[in-house]
Amino acid sequence: MKTENQIRDQIAEIGRSLYARGLSPGSSGNISVRLDDGWLLTPTNSCLGNLDPGMLSKVDWNGKHLSGDKPSKEYFLHLAVYSNRPSAQAIVHLHSTYSAAVSCLDGLSSESCIPPITPYFVMRVGRLPLIPYFRPGDKCLAQAISKLAAKHAAVLLANHGPVVSGKDLNSAMYAIEELEETAKLMLLLNGQRIRTLDENQIQGLRETFGAEW
Ligand SMILES: [Zn+2]
Repeated sequence: MKTENQIRDQIAEIGRSLYARGLSPGSSGNISVRLDDGWLLTPTNSCLGNLDPGMLSKVDWNGKHLSGDKPSKEYFLHLAVYSNRPSAQAIVHLHSTYSAAVSCLDGLSSESCIPPITPYFVMRVGRLPLIPYFRPGDKCLAQAISKLAAKHAAVLLANHGPVVSGKDLNSAMYAIEELEETAKLMLLLNGQRIRTLDENQIQGLRETFGAEW
């Protein structure tokens, strides 16, 4: 079990890594981790490449700011996931290019907006619902996420980007990277005939690896 200080350092390290690889340009994206006495979140207008572990925002379960810098304006989207998904210990939200590009496509399935094209997408991300577009800061977004968070570890926000939870911070990071790579594959394959995994193959991943599909 990590101490709060170790978790703070890990958030800064993962932020640096995501930023260095171009997955969180500017001040976009945010990272949070559940603690025993609330949760930690990256501050508003912070660059993930340059986080101060001691100044991360600490927030309670009502969304009240307890310490550190002012929390990200997107705090309510994290709270919606934690409140409805007890197994979620950490969340990463990005505006990463390929996932954001897919989120702008017209005609996506709202229940499963990226098809099961690889087993790793099925295992690490699972079935990915699309949340309709909401103006930034609109609390209706939290309601829409709340309805889906119990059943889904990850959701894609239309014209915006992915929100991915995990049993710890590394799992959430690996899952959002898998999502980003699969979004890239989906765009590379756009207009071509795709052979997706069939129902039996997905069932095998559910039984063997506990995939949520
Ligand atoms: Zn966002």
